[in-house]
Amino acid sequence: MVDLYILGASGSIGTQTIDIISNYPKLFRVVGMSVGHDLVKAEELVKKVNPEIVCLRYLDTKINTNAKLVYGDDGLLEIARYKSSQNKAILVNALVGSSGLVPTIEAIKNHKDIALANKETLVMAGDLIKSLIKKYNVKLTPIDSEHNAIWQCLKGENKKQVNKLIITASGGAFRDKSRAELENVSKDDALKHPNWQMGAKITIDSATMMNKGFEVIEAHYLFDMPYSKIDTIMHKESIVHSLVLFSDLSLKALLGHADMRIPILYALSYPKHLKIKNIKPLDLNNLNLTFNELSKERFPLLKCAYYCGEKGGLYPTVLNAANEAAVSLFLKNKIKFLEIEEIVISYIKKDYTNISYNIENILELDDKIKKEILAKYGDNL
Ligand code: MG
Repeated sequence: MVDLYILGASGSIGTQTIDIISNYPKLFRVVGMSVGHDLVKAEELVKKVNPEIVCLRYLDTKINTNAKLVYGDDGLLEIARYKSSQNKAILVNALVGSSGLVPTIEAIKNHKDIALANKETLVMAGDLIKSLIKKYNVKLTPIDSEHNAIWQCLKGENKKQVNKLIITASGGAFRDKSRAELENVSKDDALKHPNWQMGAKITIDSATMMNKGFEVIEAHYLFDMPYSKIDTIMHKESIVHSLVLFSDLSLKALLGHADMRIPILYALSYPKHLKIKNIKPLDLNNLNLTFNELSKERFPLLKCAYYCGEKGGLYPTVLNAANEAAVSLFLKNKIKFLEIEEIVISYIKKDYTNISYNIENILELDDKIKKEILAKYGDNL
């Protein structure tokens, strides 16, 4: 039996996690969870999994449950520290954006394995997380479908014989639009992802290709690969979740439905492949797969991710903070779609080489950049 702690339980990854593990009541139980602002949905989920501890976002809210209620950012940390039994404990981090970082660190320090959907954790503080994982001897398994695929392709392989990790990209909502056509696209247009049902922030990040850029940085940290060995490719069907090219030109790929419940389950059941229920196998008949170049000129934020990744230090933190603030402004209709890129680029152009890399500086810079960008548009955190 594994004790699960799900942060972001009412979001897209969180609800899919609860959905898939409910088929294995003898293997997994949810001990703790955090939920978002929708209290009706929260109560429904809590009733379904009956956890011992629940974190609500706002202090003056309540739901009908016998579970211990905790609140806000401190509540997330209480869940990260909570211990219910001697069972193996996994924290599923499905929070959105930078809010995922500190709870991940706290969970590692409390000897929980991490199943990571919140890629911003690794983008902001990849080196730090990696050293903590080693120090506390916990496992970090990737939920992100591309990384879950690469991880499986690398199983049993020698990383020295890897030529390239090739991350596939569906292309997001605007993959068939030219840059000129992006001038006046709306929030609703950007939220229509062709293949995946996801939360708002990641759907916008997919349309700008920032998501793919973050995934390049995530892959760098997860698999200890230099950026020169990480490529991206447009694959509109989202069937091949990623590939690994070896030195003898063997090319391994992982195929599957565009259904996050499959990588979620493997991240939790690793190294076992459990028998999955209620999902039909992929039908290989008449499957047409296409691969095309993913242009860094068409998608400049992808180029920015390589730039910040190569520079290292606080640059990925800056990239993430500026993007997070810009996306939230776009979601509030305060800026245009292309202004997301402009804001991000204006911030990563600055010099951050004199700031030393530690958690205090990472959090401080993240906060400072977001507040600065939001204030320019009369908004706040
Ligand atoms: Mg992904």
